[in-house]
Amino acid sequence: MTMKRFRKSGLVSLFALALLVTAFLYIAPNRGFAVGPSLKVHVLGVTGDAILVQLPNNKIMLVDSGIAEEESIVLQKIQDLGVTRIDYLVATHMHLDHIGNHSEIINQFDIGQIFFPGDGAPDTSPDYIAMQTAASAKGITIEKKVANDYLFPTTTVNGYSLSAKVLSPRTGVVLNASGTGNTANSYSLVFSLKYNNKGILFTGDALNDTLNDLRLNHGLNDNHILKAGHHGYNDSNSNTFLDYVFAKQTHKVIITQISNDLTNSGQLKARLNTRYPDVEYWSTKYRPDVWFETDGGNWVSSQPHE
Ligand SMILES: [Zn+2]
Repeated sequence: MTMKRFRKSGLVSLFALALLVTAFLYIAPNRGFAVGPSLKVHVLGVTGDAILVQLPNNKIMLVDSGIAEEESIVLQKIQDLGVTRIDYLVATHMHLDHIGNHSEIINQFDIGQIFFPGDGAPDTSPDYIAMQTAASAKGITIEKKVANDYLFPTTTVNGYSLSAKVLSPRTGVVLNASGTGNTANSYSLVFSLKYNNKGILFTGDALNDTLNDLRLNHGLNDNHILKAGHHGYNDSNSNTFLDYVFAKQTHKVIITQISNDLTNSGQLKARLNTRYPDVEYWSTKYRPDVWFETDGGNWVSSQPHE
């Protein structure tokens, strides 16, 4: 090989290496979001609640897992996102349309911590017992959380704060005191996931008594996308609560996930149409996946369906 040829092939190699490095830097840090480390929320199109969150520090959070009858669909959707480890597995409450696949997910994935509401939340359902059995087989203790706890230590990513603060249940506050609602729903784990000033409010199946308590006593003063309570039923998401949340939202968005009772999905939508026509409504009623992503500055998302 002459010196001239060597130089030329050396330059080609350097150029190829630069291309590879550029491609890696562009793709690797943020899974397709081209600005910086991002928080990505995947609302899975299944029956019941199931929301997978890719945190900007590369940790994975799964909030609920849908009904057991759709186990193969749920597991496939999680695997399709490239997930092998779930760092934070959240069970908002004990109902089958929220933790129907938790035991199988614990069996099949590498699991970090498991969270459940504390301070009086019912924990006797067959799905809860199955989750507990699967967890203890792996040596994992279910951690019961109450208001002002955090699901992970607040951290800084790319100069922005990342936090997950629990808002309900509050210690010593009796929910569903009237006994007319569903106690497990009222004791749903409600928490705020925030990256910089962008947040999602996870409400599980919290009913109006819980949301009123949160509004009146917990000073929810931040900007949040709202995961509607109780699948959009009218026993949650009161106009008073929606007024309160939407007043803080810079990007007025609400997400619902259908329950195993399909009659609910029209209730919230009908109310939004008349009272909040400018609010973006996203629903998994027709089984699409919905996603939202933020780099801490702006939201990008899939398209609203209705
Ligand atoms: Zn539910």
